[in-house]
Amino acid sequence: MNDYDIAIIGGGLVGASLAVALAESPLRVVLVEAAAPPASSPLWDERCIALNDASQRIFDSYGVWEALRDDAAPIVATHISERGRFGTARFAASEAGLPALGYNVPLRAIGAALSARMQGLKNLTLLEPARLSALKPGADAVELTIESGGATRTLSARLVAAADGARSAVRDLLGIAAERRDYAQHAIVSAVRLSRPHQGVAYERFTPEGPIALIPKPDQAASLVWTLPDEQVEARLALSDAEYLALAQDCFGGRLGRFTELGRRWSHPLARVLSRSLTAPRTVFIGNAAQSLHPVAAQGFNLGLRDVAALAAGIAEAADPGTEATLAAYAERREQDRGRVSDFTDLMVRAFSNRVPFLAQARHWGLVAVELAPPLRNAVLRQHLGHLGLPRATSSAAAEISPAAKVPSPLGGEG
Ligand SMILES: Cc1cc2nc3c(=O)[nH]c(=O)nc-3n(C[C@H](O)[C@H](O)[C@H](O)COP(=O)(O)OP(=O)(O)OC[C@H]3O[C@@H](n4cnc5c(N)ncnc54)[C@H](O)[C@@H]3O)c2cc1C
Repeated sequence: MNDYDIAIIGGGLVGASLAVALAESPLRVVLVEAAAPPASSPLWDERCIALNDASQRIFDSYGVWEALRDDAAPIVATHISERGRFGTARFAASEAGLPALGYNVPLRAIGAALSARMQGLKNLTLLEPARLSALKPGADAVELTIESGGATRTLSARLVAAADGARSAVRDLLGIAAERRDYAQHAIVSAVRLSRPHQGVAYERFTPEGPIALIPKPDQAASLVWTLPDEQVEARLALSDAEYLALAQDCFGGRLGRFTELGRRWSHPLARVLSRSLTAPRTVFIGNAAQSLHPVAAQGFNLGLRDVAALAAGIAEAADPGTEATLAAYAERREQDRGRVSDFTDLMVRAFSNRVPFLAQARHWGLVAVELAPPLRNAVLRQHLGHLGLPRATSSAAAEISPAAKVPSPLGGEG
């Protein structure tokens, strides 16, 4: 008899989402998280993450969306442009007959909602803070060594779900390689207050230095994600708030009026890390442990949540969730979505970080084509919404994109 059917290593957004996804299943689940739960309270400049329509639906089906609704700022349209060029691509929720393309939600609120949902789940044991230090796959189960508060214990599980982030310890312990592409860029994330209402419009503006994104937050504020070459980051962080705001305003322009206040700044080095394999004996990699992406298209967690949805659907009723056949079926289901999203994100980073003149022309016409060519537009919109990678059960509930739908758009016209 094994201690657990599934051991989730890592209780970040993805690991915690998997625990919640398995709430109704008969599987015995243990979640091992190295860090103690953070205590944080709402702040106007807290970190947010953009969830697309598919993620909203997945969270809704797990019973956590209600707890997020009040904190979630709807994104009703997006506007993509390049500094110094006329080409733009615009998408509005109205095109898809949806109230929003997605929602910008504080990480604190998502963490709290998942944590509240996990409390009291009869099939879940939470070990935190506790760290996985060794594991040994066997024919019927994996033996795991866990360190917690100076004590060591071992436990066994039929399946290990590695949700332990881009530097996955599980990957290292099993000797699974990852393909790493360093972009030599950092993202500086902060919040800004705006002199004009944003009307729910998210902006992505490509500049010669790197993309700058403004994503709506409640209270006439926005998340500002500024991607810069490594060598510029230190100097940018050293600027006063007023200097930083003036520079951001100059790059972004006056679409949203003036930037009137800047929140705290965080910086993150940017790389793409792809695990060479999505599975190993009795082990599966999900979220950033499987693929960590550049944030330019705000896809990382959205993709990880679709990993969760596919895995939970594939194992919820399984007598043994760790068999080779179950894992092979999971990997097959996820390869396409993962490949498409990581390639698309990488293409965007490389195409828009390049100053070669003919590429500038290609970018311009690329944006024009996305704006004007209905089939291309539809494909990009479906990707944006996350519908292309939804497991069948959830996608049948996803609205068909209907150009005929009429919901007023803040971009003017119908979109
Ligand atoms: C600047 C920026 C902006 C972003 N914006 C967006 C966005 O708008 N939309 C979007 O979809 N995505 C976005 N992302 C991506 C998103 O943040 C990540 O994809 C997501 O947070 C990954 O979650 P995860 O749970 O897989 O990994 P992590 O958050 O890295 O969690 C891994 C967990 O595993 C634990 N752990 C590690 N080792 C062990 C061990 N040995 N034992 C036990 N526990 C362990 C860690 O403590 C951690 O809690 C952004 C990323 C960046 C950098």
